[in-house]
Amino acid sequence: MKPVLVEIHCPSCSWHTHIPCETLVIEELEPRYKQQILEDEMFHYICPCCKARIQYLLTFTYMSKKGNYLLILKPDTSSFDIHIPFKDVYTYKRFVHTVEQLKEKIRIFDDGLHDYAIELLKYQIKEKRKIEHIVYYDRDKTTHTLWFQVIHEDISSLMGVEEAYYVSCEKQIPALKDDFLTIDLSLILSKMHSD
Ligand SMILES: [Zn+2]
Repeated sequence: MKPVLVEIHCPSCSWHTHIPCETLVIEELEPRYKQQILEDEMFHYICPCCKARIQYLLTFTYMSKKGNYLLILKPDTSSFDIHIPFKDVYTYKRFVHTVEQLKEKIRIFDDGLHDYAIELLKYQIKEKRKIEHIVYYDRDKTTHTLWFQVIHEDISSLMGVEEAYYVSCEKQIPALKDDFLTIDLSLILSKMHSD
């Protein structure tokens, strides 16, 4: 909607260029961008000289009226003035700091799930199975299974979890401020320590 020029420096061969990138996407108006985000086409650039794959980040807003969520990708954690008209019509307003988090939130909200309950479930799985990294991936409504991408001892795989575990986490969602929130593992840990 509002493309800006992003400066790209190839770390491998020092190639330098500027490329246009969107800063605001409304799902209903430009559905093709969701696919590009989920398939890692957006925020990635292939260096024409050495073919290195470069990820770049910029402040980026993603809105879904259908899913009732508004996500702001904010590469750094500095404070940020938000001037988004009609932001209060969205129930879920979230900050994310990486492309992986952006993709994960889109998948969670599109599947009709709550991100706090998913983060809590991820924490419980990590603790129990001693998994290094876990990211929500998909929901299979016919088998009542939630699928996660996990990385354990450098091996990436998919793990299915019965939806009943999610339902018990959903019951533990605390009262959350109606504002932009960063809902991640550190929030789960801080809530646990404050209880
Ligand atoms: Zn290069």
